[in-house]
Amino acid sequence: MPTKISLYIHIPFCRHRCAYCDFNTYAGQESLIPAYLKALQAEIEQVAVKLNFPHEIGTIFLGGGTPSYLPVEGLREILNTCRRVFPIRDDCEISIEANPGTVHREGLSELRRAGFNRISMGMQSANIHELRLLEREHDPIAVIQAVASARLAGFENLNLDLIFGIPGQTMDSWKKSIHFALDLKPDHLSLYALTIEHGTPFKKWVERGLINVPDDDLAADQYEYACQILEEAGFEHYEISNWALKTGDRSKMCQHNLQYWRYLPYIGVGAGAHGFLENHRTVNVRGIKAYIDRMNFSVEMPFPASSAAEQVGELDLWTQMQEKMMVSLRLLNEGVEAASFAQRFGVELEEVFGDQIARLTRQGLLKWAGSSDQRRLRLTQQAWLLANRVFREFIGLKEPPVFRKNAHSTTTRVP
Ligand code: SF4
Repeated sequence: MPTKISLYIHIPFCRHRCAYCDFNTYAGQESLIPAYLKALQAEIEQVAVKLNFPHEIGTIFLGGGTPSYLPVEGLREILNTCRRVFPIRDDCEISIEANPGTVHREGLSELRRAGFNRISMGMQSANIHELRLLEREHDPIAVIQAVASARLAGFENLNLDLIFGIPGQTMDSWKKSIHFALDLKPDHLSLYALTIEHGTPFKKWVERGLINVPDDDLAADQYEYACQILEEAGFEHYEISNWALKTGDRSKMCQHNLQYWRYLPYIGVGAGAHGFLENHRTVNVRGIKAYIDRMNFSVEMPFPASSAAEQVGELDLWTQMQEKMMVSLRLLNEGVEAASFAQRFGVELEEVFGDQIARLTRQGLLKWAGSSDQRRLRLTQQAWLLANRVFREFIGLKEPPVFRKNAHSTTTRVP
């Protein structure tokens, strides 16, 4: 049985850098796009050669940055390279992130013809003042046009991203954004709480008193409002920040992100991309120029890393178990299934995390669900807004005696 793997491709270009953004993306570097695309193809080919076990690609995700800012021809070439070097499943979900201001009808049709079958749009807000504060370049009308164009182009799987907790955003304006988004009939919604990140203009503005830090209580109310309205609108709240339209086969959930949340293997290519494959973590160099140089230089790296990796390390079982708890508890219905945890790691969930589970259950933050042979550990609804507190309980723990004999994680750093 081939291993199902996901493939993440990072596109670190944006027309403008938004004031709150701390993603690995750059504005004003357009002259590097052709060389970057060439380097990406080289990396995809290099990684494919290293995969010497039966595998197939189940999802491909072009994220950024703004992938839709790049010429369609270049994106098509990237997909063609993937098809040439990897076995791709017939039902492969192929997603692209797009900004409403960077897409037009013909370009979207070409993307659809190239093979992209899911599109994720950064709508963020339906309020023009909030969009301007975030330094997003589009306006609400552009979102309507972009969604209509994507539907006409044949995208049957469409996500909208929204942000709550924006300085100055009221409950009323949040409600308007939610209803504006619902009127566009998306298949999926991702709602993120704004965080003020170091090194961003937002951080400086907060320090100078020009904007207020988001109000936690208001953000909590906004989140709870969204939970209620989206449930009524027929969406399944399947991950802390993600909702998918309910369908019999749950096909509107983001299959690519499910792979991360289920702690299953993925390849990451492109500047700053991370990968997790055969118990190894890879981290690529972040800068565009550095990435291109590394791929041109083509230095040999240990499995499964490419020449672009600046770190590659094997994760021991104990580290993997902790990470598994942190990512899979994000899945509100699936949670962590006790039997599959035991099968994967060779130890019972409660044998290693019994104290944490008992404490968090007593605090009303975790609960058991499912039948006795399919027991799942889940966050309680009360914990949805306190999830980081729960995750912290499972990270950085001392190895239990049963695992002390195991090898520790090893990481190779490349100068
Ligand atoms: S468009 Fe997205 S990735 Fe680009 S700068 Fe804005 S928030 Fe960051």
